[in-house]
Amino acid sequence: MSRVLVTGGAGYIGSITTALLLDQGFEVTVLDDCSTGHRDSVPAQARFIEGTILDGEIVRRALEGCDSVIHFAAKSLVGESVEKPDLYRNNNINGSQILFDEMDGAGVTRIVVSSSAATYGDTHEQPILETLKAKPGNPYGETKLAVDNLLTDLAAEENFAAISLRYFNVAGSLKTPTRWLREEHDPETHLIPNLLKATKDSPLKIFGTDWDTPDGTCIRDYVHVHDLADAHIRALNQLIAGRHEIINIGSGTGYSVREVIDTASKVVGYEIPSVNVDRRDGDPAILIASIEKARSTLGWSPMRDLSAMISDTFESKK
Ligand code: UDP
Repeated sequence: MSRVLVTGGAGYIGSITTALLLDQGFEVTVLDDCSTGHRDSVPAQARFIEGTILDGEIVRRALEGCDSVIHFAAKSLVGESVEKPDLYRNNNINGSQILFDEMDGAGVTRIVVSSSAATYGDTHEQPILETLKAKPGNPYGETKLAVDNLLTDLAAEENFAAISLRYFNVAGSLKTPTRWLREEHDPETHLIPNLLKATKDSPLKIFGTDWDTPDGTCIRDYVHVHDLADAHIRALNQLIAGRHEIINIGSGTGYSVREVIDTASKVVGYEIPSVNVDRRDGDPAILIASIEKARSTLGWSPMRDLSAMISDTFESKK
């Protein structure tokens, strides 16, 4: 039996990946400081340690009995990173460095890491290939790129087996036998949960309608969290000592903010109320993934579409 340490396993993507790992027969230890995650999102079968990756002693304890790591624990809001870059550097880069040092000390060298399309920055080259030179446009993306670079060095120098999954836009929810696992951020900044909350009195704010795109709103590539969690487990099974691979995870298709709103209006059966406002700091115009590497390296393809991402999140709130 193999035990995986999931850092950030009380968060949105971490808790759903933990649930699927347990389903597939892995043992799981979750390490989470519950700053943005929720203790009750961690499935009961997982060992849970409340603590931060910034504390080497707690990380050492969490690594006991584990032979691999899936590393989610990070601050992950673009807007917040523009306001508090030092918080992002400390949590994301220093925290990861402490985790990697402790792994090295414990002889645990297999790791799958949550990276981000925010590493690529604003680019006209769409879809984005992993070979594109990364040029992050905000501190969040910079911290994710710095962590990827640390792993490239660890693979070369310490024989780590590492895969960074560069997520595009993640959405959707997972129904487990006991409860729905879904995005529960406070404040919520993401498009799909926000549009489901929109009312006439508090309409969805569309951030910018003057982007260089066909309808003037930003284009993103949305992937279902269940598909994304599957990609982590596939990655875990494909790790190769001395290699660090970077692999995009998206759907390979772009939707504008207006297209997402239109799809959501059809799914929920009423018109989502919206209002046009200024652009949000740090947003690039378009992000669409090339997912050829995910297909060929992981044998992974997205199985669930945008309507499913919206409808199961809508269901989960009933
Ligand atoms: N967006 C929006 N209103 C919202 C939330 C998001 O118009 O309330 C837009 C945002 O500017 C971006 C897209 O929706 O173009 C996706 O944003 P989200 O925050 O979901 O993910 P990100 O792309 O920042 O990772």
